[in-house]
Amino acid sequence: MRQIAIYGKGGIGKSTTTQNTVAALAESGNQVMVVGCDPKADSTRLLLNGLCQKTVLDTLRDEGDDIELEDILKIGFGNTRCVESGGPEPGVGCAGRGIITSINMLESLGAYTSDLDYVFYDVLGDVVCGGFAMPIREGKAQEIYIVASGELMACYAANNIAKGISKYALSGGVRLGGIICNSRKVDNEYALLKAFAEELGSQLIHFVPRDNIVQRAEINKKTVIDFDPKANQADEYRKLAMNIKNNDMFVIPKPMTQDRLEELMMQHGFLDAIA
Ligand code: ADP
Ligand code: SF4
Ligand code: MG
Repeated sequence: MRQIAIYGKGGIGKSTTTQNTVAALAESGNQVMVVGCDPKADSTRLLLNGLCQKTVLDTLRDEGDDIELEDILKIGFGNTRCVESGGPEPGVGCAGRGIITSINMLESLGAYTSDLDYVFYDVLGDVVCGGFAMPIREGKAQEIYIVASGELMACYAANNIAKGISKYALSGGVRLGGIICNSRKVDNEYALLKAFAEELGSQLIHFVPRDNIVQRAEINKKTVIDFDPKANQADEYRKLAMNIKNNDMFVIPKPMTQDRLEELMMQHGFLDAIA
């Protein structure tokens, strides 16, 4: 069983990319579980065709500790197993602790069955906060992919995440598997992200184009794989899934200084382009 965490700044496309990748793996016969680790609890709705699944934390709050696996795990597209951790009440408690409570609950209810090929954790935000680093701090996810784009803030967040990974990699087994570019159609985006990934000592695992079919599928509460399996974008997600499946490059990343990051963006004409 490979346990994979997807990190990246808010709104970059983690949940969309994760669910489409998971759908691609599921359609080719893999057994996959998705654990949403975002208090927004929208990591599985495309796999569940819009079903608003009750989160682990809400279930615990409403029903106490005596809960069954079926209460928190729903079956979605291609037999995927879908879980949403949820979050504490707004303004109270640490969201990261909620994630670890959920993972512990899934473990004690026997959700990590031996037939699982993959578990994906879709994790909010950047790892500068210790709470959201929980899946890698506690050694649950061993393999990380960072979703980024050619925008400065996306690369800035990705570099911060790399800092978090390098910190925990020294004490545990967690490794960076690659950068996923979810395109924002920024000038020279492919070259920039490739150089960015290589500077970290990693690789650009796939360049996912921006395509409105993602929105059309989303409004229909589906992944692109489910909504229009023949679309080019569906093939892009299948390629990403295959690249992850066949990946054998797992590194302790070498994060950049802020100056070096800006220099790299400058070299790729990005800052000139917006000047
Ligand atoms: P995150 O989980 O990182 O917060 P989401 O996956 O919710 O981000 O994506 C944010 C928005 O971007 C969604 O509305 C989604 O439809 C859109 N989006 C994501 N990837 C693409 C893409 N490749 N092409 C077009 N729109 C995209
Ligand atoms: Fe929030 Fe992170 Fe602090 Fe937890 S560790 S309270 S998730 S900022
Ligand atoms: Mg999300």
